[in-house]
Amino acid sequence: MPLVPGRQILEEALKGGYGVGAFNVNNMEQIQSIMMAARETQSPVFIQASRGALKYSNLVYLRHLMLAAAEENPDIPMAMHLDHGNNLDSAKTAVGLGFTSVMIDGSLKEDAKTPTTYDENVEVTKKVVDYCHQYGVSVEGEIGTLGGIEDGVGSGQIHLTDPVQAAQFIKDTGVDYLALAIGTSHGAYKFKAAPKLAIEIVTKVRELVGNVPMVMHGSSSVPKELVDEVNQYGGKMPNAMGVPIASIQEGIRSGVAKINVDTDGRLAITGAIRKVFATEPQKFDPREYLTPAREAHAKVVAERMRQFGAAGHAKDYKPMSLDENKAFYLSKSKAGASK
Ligand SMILES: [Zn+2]
Repeated sequence: MPLVPGRQILEEALKGGYGVGAFNVNNMEQIQSIMMAARETQSPVFIQASRGALKYSNLVYLRHLMLAAAEENPDIPMAMHLDHGNNLDSAKTAVGLGFTSVMIDGSLKEDAKTPTTYDENVEVTKKVVDYCHQYGVSVEGEIGTLGGIEDGVGSGQIHLTDPVQAAQFIKDTGVDYLALAIGTSHGAYKFKAAPKLAIEIVTKVRELVGNVPMVMHGSSSVPKELVDEVNQYGGKMPNAMGVPIASIQEGIRSGVAKINVDTDGRLAITGAIRKVFATEPQKFDPREYLTPAREAHAKVVAERMRQFGAAGHAKDYKPMSLDENKAFYLSKSKAGASK
């Protein structure tokens, strides 16, 4: 299977009433474990790289590892996605690398820290949409700001999304899907107590715009058993806490189709590696600790794919090429112009 434009994967998910996990990667093992989980559960998937991940891998390594994942898994619809692009240049880089989906986070300025005005957000997002759609690449925008900081992204303050403004933003920019701030947060220390998410924002946006897929960022669940394993073998992560699965499932029922998960994978990998180091200190072949790390990561990813309802949906539809998606955008803009 070729790489699939993000729009098709998420519109199918919305139709089917399930959510697709978008998992962050930095290296070969993470990509392999996500694809192991996708194969096992027969789930469509987003493999996503942040700007930090692309830098870490000198761009070209991650590109080829993702292409390898697509080649190895011809039956799994997979989008190659840029997480938190910060300007038009980052989108151009991703399109040049062959990504099929790009996020422009215009809720923050290029420094990825300072919140923007609505007009500034529309301006940069529209530029990225116009650029990416020429190549059949789908675009995710963001409106409102999330809490927490991850990979250097985050203002450290939360501004929940205004649903009316979100609906207007979709019209003004033409984004394919939209990340909303509904009370989730990036990182492993999201909350002091179990959070109450503002799912009614998702419901309201959907009432206003119809079938535009919504995205939840900062949606790791930070399971206690994974944190405990990290701490048991010498880690130091007191009071880590995430988003309960039931809240994510409620979001999916309301119109969320893409759920970003990074921290859970990091925890699974770190716990498994720490365990080998602590219990078998004689081992020094990286494969001896990266193999259990990969298995632990695949296990948590497969669990999420089942919990989000994506399992079993890999063969529901014929995947679209970027050229077909490009034709779709062209016909849409022609229809818009003739109105
Ligand atoms: Zn994010």
